[in-house]
Amino acid sequence: MAVFKIAVIPGDGIGPEVTRSTCEVLNKVAQKSGNGFLFTEVSAGGIAIDTFGEPLPEKSLQIAKDSDAVLLGAVGGPKWDDLPGRSRPEAALLGLRKELALYANLRLAILFPELKCASPLRPDLVENGVDILIVRELTGGIYFGKRGLEKSEECLSDGTPKGMEAFDVETYSEAEIERILRVGFTSAMQRRKNLTVVDKANILETSRLWRKVTERVASEYPEVSVEFMYVDNASMQLLRRPGSFDVIVTSNMFGDILSDEAGMITGSIGMLPSASLGTPGTPGMYEPVHGSAPDIAGKGIANPLATILSAAMMLRYSLGLPEEGEKIEKAVGAVLRQGYRTTDIASSSDANVLGTKEMTEKVIEEYEKL
Ligand code: NAD
Repeated sequence: MAVFKIAVIPGDGIGPEVTRSTCEVLNKVAQKSGNGFLFTEVSAGGIAIDTFGEPLPEKSLQIAKDSDAVLLGAVGGPKWDDLPGRSRPEAALLGLRKELALYANLRLAILFPELKCASPLRPDLVENGVDILIVRELTGGIYFGKRGLEKSEECLSDGTPKGMEAFDVETYSEAEIERILRVGFTSAMQRRKNLTVVDKANILETSRLWRKVTERVASEYPEVSVEFMYVDNASMQLLRRPGSFDVIVTSNMFGDILSDEAGMITGSIGMLPSASLGTPGTPGMYEPVHGSAPDIAGKGIANPLATILSAAMMLRYSLGLPEEGEKIEKAVGAVLRQGYRTTDIASSSDANVLGTKEMTEKVIEEYEKL
């Protein structure tokens, strides 16, 4: 039995509502499992700009660094939209990612069979639900490579002067590739043991290095079956046979695009959890994929399930309590099977539409039974 320090960043909009719900679920986990969670509320985002004049005060960052894990609601909103880049609420997210050295982003695209009507795909393509974990490298590749904009002295083949020319360079080292692959392999070991490495090895040198390193690391995980897939093919197969994917590991830019595509397949942004991880033993950050939803903030109707499912990831990846994480996922599945919905995932025929508080109570009730 242990006591875990959790830094809770409610943030803006619906952030405080969904983090409050999630802490209630975690309190139930503590009560049933005998472990303890020590929550420290931390200010970041728009509310921190209003209170302290900056999106990520040093004290907040220090508490996050000293914790076992960080649970974040969402930051941002129209009130702060006109502020310049570094002063905006979103700068808090970038600051946390940088300071906690979070290099792996894990996004779960889960489509519970009960919600298959929400998917924009044909029902027969998502008949058995979808459960894909996308592991995206978060601190390297083209988003962090050399870049520039300069006047070119050259011409196109028809003689037209090129004018201004911009470049962004994709760079990956063996060490960067290996550490993200290890997150992919260990995640696959905890799931259905299938790993798809997505790249563009027919064109890119960096992708060919990804493949080389994969082949070496794979020998340490003989139980995991590995498949390589070009990113263009992966984007098609995700639509054709989404149920066949287990874990996808890929570079920063490909992961950025594919994780949004996979999320869209599930049809409900209020259901998508995520985790960002650094070196083992350092605090990971857990947050829903959705934003602060200012249009529904304070109405008590926000779907808390994405944040609750993020806490399930936290139990699995940061706190060494995978069974408790699985129980939370099962409780969410049971609540959906009974037909309970929040407005964002309800269809016109759904009778049991609940608010944030009631949905949270249902999850706690189901968790209690497991
Ligand atoms: P959003 O995800 O906040 O909302 C998009 C739509 O989905 C809205 O109609 C909203 O009501 C709905 N929605 C989102 N989450 C929901 C939930 N849990 N339950 C029910 N409905 C939900 O995206 P947006 O409107 O583009 O952005 C709003 C603000 O959030 C912006 O300031 C943006 O910068 C910020 N944002 C923050 C994060 C983050 O903190 N990680 C991520 C994305 C956007």
